[in-house]
Amino acid sequence: MNDAAMSERRHARLARMPSVERVMSMHAVQTLTDVYGRTQVVAAVRAALEALRGELRAIADGQDDDADALAATGDEARIVAHAAHFLEQRSRGYLRTVFNLTGTVLHTNLGRALLPDEAVRTVIDALTHPVNLEFDLTTGARGDRDDLIEALICELTGAEAATVVNNNAAAVLLMVSALASRKEVVVSRGELVEIGGAFRIPDIMARAGARLREVGTTNRTHAKDYEEAIGPRTALLMKVHCSNYAISGFTKSVDIDELAQIAHRHALPVAFDLGSGTLTDLAQWGLPAEPTVRGTIDAGADLVTFSGDKLLGGPQAGLIVGREALIRKIRKHPLKRALRVGKLTLAALEPVLQLYRAPEFLAQRLTTLRLLTRPAAEMHAAALRVQPALQRALGERYAVTVEPMFSQIGSGALPVDQLPGYGLAVRVAAAKRGGRALMQVEKVLRELPRPVIGRIADDALRLDLRCLEAEDETAFIAQCAELRL
Ligand SMILES: *Cc1c(COP(=O)(O)O)cnc(C)c1O
Repeated sequence: MNDAAMSERRHARLARMPSVERVMSMHAVQTLTDVYGRTQVVAAVRAALEALRGELRAIADGQDDDADALAATGDEARIVAHAAHFLEQRSRGYLRTVFNLTGTVLHTNLGRALLPDEAVRTVIDALTHPVNLEFDLTTGARGDRDDLIEALICELTGAEAATVVNNNAAAVLLMVSALASRKEVVVSRGELVEIGGAFRIPDIMARAGARLREVGTTNRTHAKDYEEAIGPRTALLMKVHCSNYAISGFTKSVDIDELAQIAHRHALPVAFDLGSGTLTDLAQWGLPAEPTVRGTIDAGADLVTFSGDKLLGGPQAGLIVGREALIRKIRKHPLKRALRVGKLTLAALEPVLQLYRAPEFLAQRLTTLRLLTRPAAEMHAAALRVQPALQRALGERYAVTVEPMFSQIGSGALPVDQLPGYGLAVRVAAAKRGGRALMQVEKVLRELPRPVIGRIADDALRLDLRCLEAEDETAFIAQCAELRL
């Protein structure tokens, strides 16, 4: 066959494809336009036709029978199915609900703390009704959004005043900008942390227009190091929680109470960026001790900054608490307006804080704490219930076993401590190692309608069940039926 004849056949195949109008007039398309609207459906039909044309063109010369067969099936029904799939994919949304089986409870990449039901209800109300965000209901005058929540924060922390911004990075940036711009902030070299996602203390200082005065060494900083660094340009002494690392061995750091004494002798304020900042003593639930905000205030800190969505268990937010005069200054800074929280944050934060007023129920009602204190026996029982479904779905090539696992708190809280629990380990049955096959399982789990996120370690895919509570467990088991390897 010569080239001319070949391209003629090809041309004829392409010409047989239906027009957009023809596909749009089909009955099956009506269902799609009812859901997605005509504009989107026309675009999807165009894309489907284009995809089919591409397939036809891609078939190599000499394989005309294949191409003819494809063209013959390239009928309207096929195009409609293609368009429907395209529309469904597009409407699924980018922010998806997943199963966090990583073993990290406060996983920054998976959205950190989960809100308790109380907070979810107030968020829905605030989303669908007007609220007194900046309206004083007593006087009828304009109010301040900080007023809504300040008293509650002060009650729980023992601070004189409080303000809330978008996240803790914003809290530190705002605090330093308001108090130490064009002045010096003294920080120990052992505390110049980098938190994932480009929060670095030296960079924040630079952005805030403050000069970072580093003191001490990586492993040892003494009281006299701070003393000697204080000069006429010093505006603030600052401590930073070593959130995601621990310095051990031959070490020395200056506690907040001693640092507060030094600062106050020089009439300077001292701030502590607690990072995770818990409002309650975690040791009472057998968790590793972490400095509390109240304890830090009691020890003499003039300002404390911490996150809303780490151990506190609330929405993303940054809280700044401390001396009234300093908070007033911080509130007046122009950055405060740029970094302020929206009504959804306040709607979610208040009920979470309210839970702390009833410490007896906290471990049950505050989702983060409930997950962190979940009894190992409960996770073991869950693992036994989930194992058969996953084993059946994965088939004989894989071995799914119930195993003890260590979860982490995450988000820089208590970096070295691990919590014993249970989960499922998936291994390749026949092989000693099975790197590629395991990565395939990991990928297939991640591509499920509700993606399952685990982690591969020691030649096994580990699915930690700490964060798989009752309803999710049922959903997980049901979804196993959809697994296709
Ligand atoms: C997590 C953390 C931050 C950043 O807080 P975000 O709420 O993530 O902005 C800052 N400082 C410390 C010590 C932290 O642990």
